[in-house]
Amino acid sequence: MTTMTDSPALAATVDLSAIAHNVRVVAERAGAPVIAVVKADGYGHGAVPVARAALAAGAVELGVAHLTEALTLRAAGIDAHLTSWLHTPGTDFAAGIAAGVDLAISSPRQLAAVVAAARETGTTAIVTAKVDTGMGRSGIAPDEWAQTAADLARAQAEGAITLRAMMCHLAFGDEPDHPMNSQQAAGLDAAAADLARLGVVPEALHLSNSPAALTRPDLSRDLVRPGLALYGCSPIPGMDFGLIPALTLSAEVALVKKIPAGQGVSYGHSWITPRDTTIAVLPAGYADGVPRLISGRFEVSINGRRFPGVGRICMDQLVLDLGPDGGGVSEGDRAVLFGATPAGEPEVPKAVDWAETIGTIDYEIVSGIRGRAQRRYVGGDTGGPV
Ligand SMILES: *Cc1c(COP(=O)(O)O)cnc(C)c1O
Repeated sequence: MTTMTDSPALAATVDLSAIAHNVRVVAERAGAPVIAVVKADGYGHGAVPVARAALAAGAVELGVAHLTEALTLRAAGIDAHLTSWLHTPGTDFAAGIAAGVDLAISSPRQLAAVVAAARETGTTAIVTAKVDTGMGRSGIAPDEWAQTAADLARAQAEGAITLRAMMCHLAFGDEPDHPMNSQQAAGLDAAAADLARLGVVPEALHLSNSPAALTRPDLSRDLVRPGLALYGCSPIPGMDFGLIPALTLSAEVALVKKIPAGQGVSYGHSWITPRDTTIAVLPAGYADGVPRLISGRFEVSINGRRFPGVGRICMDQLVLDLGPDGGGVSEGDRAVLFGATPAGEPEVPKAVDWAETIGTIDYEIVSGIRGRAQRRYVGGDTGGPV
């Protein structure tokens, strides 16, 4: 992302008050405190400002995938409890221990590497056991659980680690009634019982992602671990939980011009004007995260009116058909590609509209905004550390 100006050609505006609202909605529905998941640079919203806003709104912990993401938050002065859960053999666990990051381990090999780093640095590591209770992705495999449990007990007795939590991740959170959800929760409880028999009792269990936190309060253990919902996207398309989208992508209209009937528009002339018309050019393209696949299948809101995108989306720009009368649009007007609808105004497009058009999920749309989009924050304090 490039540096800020007052009126960027392409703006990714993040409303931190929406993040705060969404944290409260999720915590209330889940009946449990929130670990705010801010991986992937806060799903494309900026991990540090989102983390601060979420903590200020009552989130009690943070979660990320890579340890490097955790270290970035620490470097920004954020000292809240922070868990990272995706490691490789090259992960610098000593740095994670030094930064007080809760290291969620997915195998006895990862645990051994953490224990070795703890011994080397002479510091007790904070550890979460990430158990594969049916996700079939990361997490401790069933056939490695018994050994990992024994290793955890030994490492804790030795003082190399403190087992802080146990977690698993749901494969069907977005299908609230799927039987796997309850099975996975039972699997986590059973793993916790195994450890209790070895004399190890973690402070917290957590498994619920956004959809589970919003729809299955019975699965909330000590904490819930939402990401998407905090950004105001519904984790179950079609269900409205009163969340407010935090990210609005808008562009300044670069050019307005008349073109005659029969004129092809953009590469390959995939759209040909059916009549004399007026087009607008927006400075947003696929290099900024507008998927080329939505070419000709999306609308943009300008001054409360919707205008269709026409022709191919290019790397840097896209074209709108404003109609023969130009729709009252002028160069310099702001066009909303997707985002939150201000109270009392006509509905603006949402990230999920793009996602559904091209067969993906809004997670991919919002976390994919990049390139020339300039991030700006409204509705909150992005200042000092929490
Ligand atoms: C990404 C992630 C989450 C958050 O998932 P959402 O569906 O965005 O709420 C929670 N836990 C783990 C392990 C994750 O990887």
